[in-house]
Amino acid sequence: MQTRKGIPVSPGIAIAPALVIDAEDQAVPRRTVPASRTKAEHQRVNDALKASAKELEDIRQQTAATLGEELARIFSFHIGMLEDPTLVDQFHAQVDTYQVTAEFAVHSVFQKWVDSFAAHPDPFFRDRGLDIQDLRRRVLRQLIGGGLSAIANLSRPAAVIAHDLTPSQTANLDRSLIKALAIDAGGQTSHTAILAHALGIPAIVGLGDIARRTSTGDNLVIDGDRGLVIIDPDAATLLDYRQQARSQRQRAESYRSLKNEPAETRDGTRVSLQANIEFPSEIPPALELGAEGVGLYRTEYVYLANDTAPTEDEQYDTYVAAIRALDGKPLTLRTIDLGADKMPAGIDAILDRTERNPFLGCRSIRLCLQNLELFRTQLRAVLRAAAHGPIKIMFPLISNIMELRQAKMVLDDVREDLEDQGVSVPDNIPVGMMIEVPSAAIQAHAFAKETDFFSIGTNDLIQYTVAVDRGNEHIASLYSAAHPAVISLIKEVVRVAKRSDTPVSLCGEMASLPEFTMLLLGLGLRNFSITPPAIPLTKQIIRSVSLQQCQRVARRVAGLDSQKDIANTLKEELRKAVPDAVQARTA
Ligand code: PEP
Ligand code: MG
Repeated sequence: MQTRKGIPVSPGIAIAPALVIDAEDQAVPRRTVPASRTKAEHQRVNDALKASAKELEDIRQQTAATLGEELARIFSFHIGMLEDPTLVDQFHAQVDTYQVTAEFAVHSVFQKWVDSFAAHPDPFFRDRGLDIQDLRRRVLRQLIGGGLSAIANLSRPAAVIAHDLTPSQTANLDRSLIKALAIDAGGQTSHTAILAHALGIPAIVGLGDIARRTSTGDNLVIDGDRGLVIIDPDAATLLDYRQQARSQRQRAESYRSLKNEPAETRDGTRVSLQANIEFPSEIPPALELGAEGVGLYRTEYVYLANDTAPTEDEQYDTYVAAIRALDGKPLTLRTIDLGADKMPAGIDAILDRTERNPFLGCRSIRLCLQNLELFRTQLRAVLRAAAHGPIKIMFPLISNIMELRQAKMVLDDVREDLEDQGVSVPDNIPVGMMIEVPSAAIQAHAFAKETDFFSIGTNDLIQYTVAVDRGNEHIASLYSAAHPAVISLIKEVVRVAKRSDTPVSLCGEMASLPEFTMLLLGLGLRNFSITPPAIPLTKQIIRSVSLQQCQRVARRVAGLDSQKDIANTLKEELRKAVPDAVQARTA
């Protein structure tokens, strides 16, 4: 039995066999093949090399166009290596001599090169070792990226183990068979983590080397409350976890019975609980869990889920499906928030995959304002869909007032065009913005004059306030909603919103974490948009506390200046106020 600890991002316990689906950066297992298969393995090597060279050629052309031929030359060198017949011969010889799979042959030949370059005294050659490492990853991704097809062919429940998954890969996981997710990379609010939470399965990220330590078929316990993966658990551990899983199921059932009860504190303060979604298909289960509407629809997922860019009509159909599923309940559509860790295949021409600092780069509203065709196409679809039900439009990542003005101007222009074409558009659509950049939080008073509502996006607000990449597992302990600077910004935005009569909600993952509910209520927030599986527990907490209690918690926290003290205080307060709601994750 071995235990590994990571960052818990979706609670619950799963006991299931492992399905290891990723091989990047992990030791590729040595698997032999019968002599009759070696020719087929040669072909797999050739195909993977060809596909990798094609990928590199695309990157080379993009680099040449944006940065010039000189810099693009490095990719010509890489392509040349992949096409070098001596290298291809080495891969084939490895397959023939040891009767191993294409991936093992590629891995071991490249590894020898990497090792010899790494030992070289000249830094120039040591750097070439990094290039080869990169080529090795690229070719392996071609060969074992197909590991994802193992998911498609899955016939039994399994816990997915991977080095990393993109948000779109995670979004495509089949929830009926995937019982848990454990991955090496990522932080608490990486988009992969958010999606795993939305799937409602236990999930752990930032495990570092779980994909290397686990083999497909290993028995696993995934403890999404404490962030533990237990490989080959002993009988006593298994028994204990089976009991815990049973009592969690019972507790979840009892929370679900709250579906039709209002989210109201003991002293009668009404709170609105809406859902964060990525796809319209998440709406019926969210309503089942008690969602009062959708407070954040991440519309970029229609791009992430497809290999080609969706047309205006396809986007329109998707939005209408969401509006219909809500049957009159409100829907806040956030305009496309692509870039950084959300890089779909379909708009390669406008995405710069080589950006040095993509979270500070051309993402989100910036990408839209620099690519008006993309933006206008979406806005046309949104405004056409608005005829079918109550929607609000929200712009992401606004960092200065000019961006808000420009985005609203584009929206007005699209509306005029539609009306000129005889399409009627409701004229009372609220237009709001996310507050997820410190500059917007600090300047909220100015934004309040030009926006219909605010939604605080703490996932990004935290990363930009404390300068910690939300998806980087190596610095994940520095990323915390309990940081006093983050809490101050939220407090300020709520204060400005109240004074200016601007409706404000909070849609970051912070609102889904039980230990923050009382603080947020105490700070004055009354609208939360959260991942659907978190709705029942959040409602249970709200119904168990009084506003006075929450205000006292907020005052207590205001007197603390370290995130550790604040986090501990919040856990302690929750434990005192709602002992039943304290899950193992906060214990
Ligand atoms: C946020 O940043 O808090 C947010 C809700 O948006 P996303 O997680 O999609 O970046
Ligand atoms: Mg965000």
